[in-house]
Amino acid sequence: MPTSTSFIPADFLILVVDDLPTNLKVVGSILAREGYVMTYAISGAQALERIEAATPDLILLDLMMPGMNGIEVCQAIKANPAYAELPIIFLTASQEQQHLIDAFAAGAIDYVTKPFQVQELLARVKTHLKLKDTADRLRQALDEVEKLAGTDPLTGVFNRRRLFQIAEQELLRSQRYGSPFSVMMLDVDHFKRVNDTYGHLAGDAVLREVAETVRQELRVTDFLGRYGGEEFAVILTETDCQQAAEVGDRIRSQLEALTVLTGGHAVRVTVSIGIGGYRLPSDDIDTILRRADIALYHSKASGRNACSIFDDSASGGACRLYTASPAPAQSRSLT
Ligand code: GH3
Ligand code: MG
Ligand code: MG
Repeated sequence: MPTSTSFIPADFLILVVDDLPTNLKVVGSILAREGYVMTYAISGAQALERIEAATPDLILLDLMMPGMNGIEVCQAIKANPAYAELPIIFLTASQEQQHLIDAFAAGAIDYVTKPFQVQELLARVKTHLKLKDTADRLRQALDEVEKLAGTDPLTGVFNRRRLFQIAEQELLRSQRYGSPFSVMMLDVDHFKRVNDTYGHLAGDAVLREVAETVRQELRVTDFLGRYGGEEFAVILTETDCQQAAEVGDRIRSQLEALTVLTGGHAVRVTVSIGIGGYRLPSDDIDTILRRADIALYHSKASGRNACSIFDDSASGGACRLYTASPAPAQSRSLT
């Protein structure tokens, strides 16, 4: 895959497929003279192997081959989502109209009959490579935009909007399979004092380190987002409130021990945490977030630097402070 916008043939790998070695040689030498990089296959089966191993940018495919013919090879490639966008040009001696129709129906991007004009073949190869390159760049740019649109620029974790989308999706999944699901809300204690004492930039550095420390305590299946100024939320899949509180308390004590060195200052903070889960299949994400928020304020009211669980077994719901038991905490299954 090239990195610049100018067209450099050596940046592209072309797979040439033909059961006749003489044909491979002829086509190969024409392309080599232009500067393209080539790889070859003498059967359909071998072509599929080469695609896996070498991920070419374009395929020149013979139509009539013993065993798996070109149409079947083309169909097999297009059926794989990873290679569905790979341009395939048929190169065939067949003059049959039906073959041309079958080739396009199988997903070919172009069709050249032998004997071919060298300049015409080269022009078609170049055009399709350029188109593929443009499409690849566009896809990458879209992926990047999509990622940025869901990311908090200061900390690199999900922003509130994206976290909400994920939370709704994951809650639905959990409710469908009857699996546990928890939300953790985390708010930095007396954060205003950090800004007032050390300045806003130091405050920013603290927020980045807090996010990073929390992230390190989570599994890849958990989702961390910045909920507001100095408030974060975590979606914990396959995790009940008790297990989430164990994670929360670990995060709390990690942050209590953290010293952020910034602008010549050594800054220390603590956090208050609240955990909420779902009880009824009808509980929506707003209800669960509210429970986590109530638990968070319970932690604040209890003196901060604490982790509380919203306990919905009590009538109307109540909160209890989590205190780590001396026995080793039961770990969540790592998925
Ligand atoms: P509490 O323990 O009750 O949560 O007290 P607090 O001071 O943390 O809470 P408060 O809501 O009074 O203050 C939050 C502060 O967070 C105020 C705001 O200026 C600061 N803040 C919000 N976003 C940012 C940010 O992106 N960077 C920095 N440096 N500060 C921020
Ligand atoms: Mg705060
Ligand atoms: Mg706050």
